[in-house]
Amino acid sequence: PKLKEVYTKAKYGGRNAVTMLPGGGIGPELMSYVKEVFRYAGVPVDFETVQIDPKSDSNDDLEYAITSIRRNGVAIKGNIETGSLDTEVLSRNVAIRNELDLYVNVINCKSYPGVRCRQQGIDIVIVRQNTEGEYAMLEHESVDGVVESMKIITAANSYRLSKYAFEYAKKFGRKKVTTVHKANIMKISDGLFLEISRKVAKEYPEIEHNDMIIDNTCMQLVSNPKQFDVMVMPNLYGAITSNVICGLIGGAGLISGKNYGDHYAVFEPGTRNTGTAIAGKNIANPIAMLNASVDMLEHLGHMKHASIIKLAIEKTINEDKIHTPDLGGTATSIDVVQNIIKLVQTNDLRHHVN
Ligand code: ADP
Ligand code: MG
Repeated sequence: PKLKEVYTKAKYGGRNAVTMLPGGGIGPELMSYVKEVFRYAGVPVDFETVQIDPKSDSNDDLEYAITSIRRNGVAIKGNIETGSLDTEVLSRNVAIRNELDLYVNVINCKSYPGVRCRQQGIDIVIVRQNTEGEYAMLEHESVDGVVESMKIITAANSYRLSKYAFEYAKKFGRKKVTTVHKANIMKISDGLFLEISRKVAKEYPEIEHNDMIIDNTCMQLVSNPKQFDVMVMPNLYGAITSNVICGLIGGAGLISGKNYGDHYAVFEPGTRNTGTAIAGKNIANPIAMLNASVDMLEHLGHMKHASIIKLAIEKTINEDKIHTPDLGGTATSIDVVQNIIKLVQTNDLRHHVN
C-alpha cells in the first residue's frame, strides 16, 4: 500500500522510464530475460541501464545510479558487488537504500503448489526495516582489537514501519501481525521497536498482534510456519527470516522483494543473491527477477501486463513444471523464459490491453 501517494513515475510519450541496475553475478542474464519477456508482452517501459563497476574505489557510478532512480522514480536491480577492500567504500546496495530512504522492504513469501519443497501452503509477508538497525554501517576500531558497531533504532523509522505493516494487513485483509525482536537482550533498541509496534497495534483492534523473539521465530518458522501472516522486524532479523522462509518454499530463485520509501520504489529478488558461482551457465532460476518485474509493473499501474506475465509464470511453474536445477528440475533458464514467452503470446496481450 502507498501510505502517501507521492511516488515519482517518469513517463514520456505514454511509456514509463525505469532505471535498471543489473549488478553482478547472475544479475545481467536475469535482466536480459526481463527485457525479452517485456518485449514479447508489449510492455510500455523503457530501461535506462546503469552498470556499477564493482572494482571501482570511486562512488561516481553509484551517484549516477541514484540520480537516475531519483529521475525515474522506479528501478529494478540485481545484487551489486562491492569489490573494494577500502573500508571507506560503502556497500552499494545499502547506500542506494539509505540514500533514497527506502525504509521498508516487503517480501511476500508465497509457496508455489507445483514446487516440491519443505513446506507447502505458506503465505507470509515480511515487512523489514530497510535503512538502519545493524545496517547503519557505523563501525570503528576504538582501540586495537576492540571494534564497535552501532545498531541504530529510531522511533520515527520504527513508527512508519509498523504503520506500514498494519496498513498493509488492513488493505490486503490479513488477520495478524507479528513483531520479531530480541528485546530480552537489546532492551533499549529492540525494546523501543517493540514498544512502538505495540502502540501502533492499538490503532488496529481488528488485527491480531503478537511478538516473538528472533531465535524462537526461526524455530517456529521451520516447525510451524502457518501460524504467521504479516511479520514486522528490524533490518538484520528481516534478512535472516526471509532467507529461512525462502529456503522452506523453494530457495533463492523464486520470490521477489519490494523496497519503498515515500517517493521511490526499487524492485529486486527477495533474498538479494549475487549467484556468482552459477553465473553464465544458463541454470539460474529467472523467476525471482521476473516476479520483481511484475511487482514493478503493478507499481507503475500496468495491471493487465503484470497479470498476464504473472499468470504465465504461475502456469510455467505449477502446471507445465518447467523447473531449473535449484527446484530439482533439469530445465535451463532459457527453457523457463521461452515457456513464459509462449504463454504470454498465447494470451495475445497486445490486442487486449486497454
Ligand atoms: P554467492 O554469494 O556465492 O554468489 P549467493 O549468496 O548469491 O551466492 O546465493 C546463495 C545461494 O542461492 C547460492 O547457492 C546460489 O547459487 C543460490 N541462488 C541465488 N539466486 C539463484 C537463482 N536465481 N537461481 C538459482 N540459484 C540461486
Ligand atoms: Mg552472496
